[in-house]
Amino acid sequence: MPNKLQNFAKRLLIWFATDGRKGLPWQRNSDPYPIWVSEIMLQQTQVVTVIPYFERFLTQFPSISALAQAPIDDVLHIWTGLGYYARARNLHKAARFIEHEHGGQFPQKVEQAVALPGIGLSTAGAILSFAFGQTHRILDGNVKRVLCRHQAIDGWPGKTKVHKDLWVLAGKLTPNGQVAQYNQAIMDLGATVCRRSKPDCQACPVRDDCIAYAEKTVALYPTPKPKTSKPVQQTYMLISVNKHREVLLERRPPTGIWGGLWCFPETDVVEHLTIAQRLPEFRHTFSHYHLDIAPVIINAANKNTTHERIEEPRQTQWCNPASPPAVGYAAPVKKLLAILTEQTIAMG
Ligand code: SF4
Repeated sequence: MPNKLQNFAKRLLIWFATDGRKGLPWQRNSDPYPIWVSEIMLQQTQVVTVIPYFERFLTQFPSISALAQAPIDDVLHIWTGLGYYARARNLHKAARFIEHEHGGQFPQKVEQAVALPGIGLSTAGAILSFAFGQTHRILDGNVKRVLCRHQAIDGWPGKTKVHKDLWVLAGKLTPNGQVAQYNQAIMDLGATVCRRSKPDCQACPVRDDCIAYAEKTVALYPTPKPKTSKPVQQTYMLISVNKHREVLLERRPPTGIWGGLWCFPETDVVEHLTIAQRLPEFRHTFSHYHLDIAPVIINAANKNTTHERIEEPRQTQWCNPASPPAVGYAAPVKKLLAILTEQTIAMG
């Protein structure tokens, strides 16, 4: 390793002592449970968004045991709005596993940690280094960006070969001591200095040997994912209203899009239904496709109600849009419940 790279960690640690992020809610102590919850929430979400969700989650489920004993609906309810709901389902599953197989204690061996649902090598490394001071490398989105720029690594980091190279490099740079601080430091550098847009290279402690900075090619790294245009799908959301002005919700199957969340029933065709009112269409975008949603209000007294459309019986419930029960909702459903609360629901 070139001389300069050898003190990469040292320079980061010095920077971290004065400029690193401290006092985040999951940094209050080294209990692995809040650290684990925060790592999962932070996987696809920014710190500022995560903080209120994290606080509510820990208030509602203060321990692994409490999370393991909670119904999945309660967990999804707290998660509503944070997206990527598989994360919540995996947390819940993993808590139950830890409760039964590890006596409620988060496992300290990396192979046991990665065996838990939703925990990959990098997340396991972060949790075990922060909670127990163990030496593990991490490679989240922030770290990838720093390394790609610093070493001018070409290729989209999602590619197996590029990912492998980055994993090896992360291992070479990770020091043996002060690993928790180092891992936090490199994450913080990516989040606050080596930002996705407008990186603040002037404030960077590893600028001296940053190849992209020297070559004025920072904006080219990391190589973006090859573009594919997202397909568009369409659906009708059926808002079935009864005489009490309640709407019918059904729980989606546990796996797949919006797994386990409560939604309006969906259909591709509405010609056979008597529509009382059409609400404005809107688009919801997933990572792999766009979903154009056309909400239609139908009168539950109609013969062709949603019940007949559903081939397999699903759990359903009537709810008042103004005071929906504390369960998990898909984001468009939450939005529609708010719209329905504000306007008078048409009755067929
Ligand atoms: S010099 Fe700029 S591009 Fe290079 S690591 Fe630092 S912030 Fe990132």
